[in-house]
Amino acid sequence: MKHHPLAFPAVLLLLSACRAAEGPSAAPAASPEPAAAAPRPEWAIAIHGGAGTIARDKPPAEVKEYRDALTAALRKGSQVLAAGGTALDAVEAVVVMMEDDAHFNAGKGAVYTREGRHELDASIMDGRNRAAGAVGAVRTVRHPILLARGVMERSPHVFLVEEGAEAFADTLGLERVENSWFDTERRRRELDEELAKEARGEGEWQQHGTVGAVALDREGHLAAATSTGGRTAKRFGRIGDTPVIGAGTWADDATCAVSGTGKGEQFLRHTVAVRISDVMAYRGASLQEAAEEVVHRVLARGDGGVIAVGHDGSIAMVYNSDGMFRGAADSGGRFEVAIWER
Ligand code: ASP
Repeated sequence: MKHHPLAFPAVLLLLSACRAAEGPSAAPAASPEPAAAAPRPEWAIAIHGGAGTIARDKPPAEVKEYRDALTAALRKGSQVLAAGGTALDAVEAVVVMMEDDAHFNAGKGAVYTREGRHELDASIMDGRNRAAGAVGAVRTVRHPILLARGVMERSPHVFLVEEGAEAFADTLGLERVENSWFDTERRRRELDEELAKEARGEGEWQQHGTVGAVALDREGHLAAATSTGGRTAKRFGRIGDTPVIGAGTWADDATCAVSGTGKGEQFLRHTVAVRISDVMAYRGASLQEAAEEVVHRVLARGDGGVIAVGHDGSIAMVYNSDGMFRGAADSGGRFEVAIWER
């Protein structure tokens, strides 16, 4: 039997409306007037700078540095959207800025592989049409997110890796740098510590500082972008969730845009980003409900977190690790950054 294309979503809407009516709010109403729904903001954006074990005893000056870096990136994305820019341009602008900021594990300041090199992964997705671009294990491209966008817009492909991706970067005229350009003392120390811990049989995933952004623009379109150096002491050639569409990044105007951060292998196994979108689409859940379900019930404690923006401009920032560097802003005046406090 052929279904009318609108019939399924319409039934879901009806079901979710019925479910809502069956909930506690179906008890004799205190007021005959239903509460007015919050107006949809004209634009909305959320960003992250990684999740994981983030020491709460960080010196205040260091905490301030992170908050300032998040504030600058959030301001950048907000400005693009407030000026009528697209969600795609906003998420790209945020990630470009964070890739150049050595506080975060993306671009400059990326973590090291076991061999003491850097391999970068990134992806971007357009909610209008599910166009997507991704790159994996690139070693010499200063801004992997620009390369991912190039793959999306200037090639017939979705995912390019290693030398093939770098050769394509040249055709786009993107900046290439020596692999050592991504070096930082701090990440080198982390590699040494990680290898020493492994030698003692104690290796454990720590905070890594992947970056991501999700946005809704004035035209009602969604986009998501994520960029990372992966995890410290990874094997060369290892690809995590970040560049895998549906695992670390997802955007669909019908539901939401999602960017994840945490144990990439877990996000891959559970296709975390698209799962949140599916819970909304198939179950009629709100963005917050869908994100909480996947982060708290599908993932395990300590795996990481997500930022997400819904088609209605709602924002969810949910994590099951100790903290997540994050920020959210919208056209209604919301502007906040946070690390631990929920
Ligand atoms: N998800 C990233 C990866 O596994 C790491 C992170 O988000 O910290 O490559």
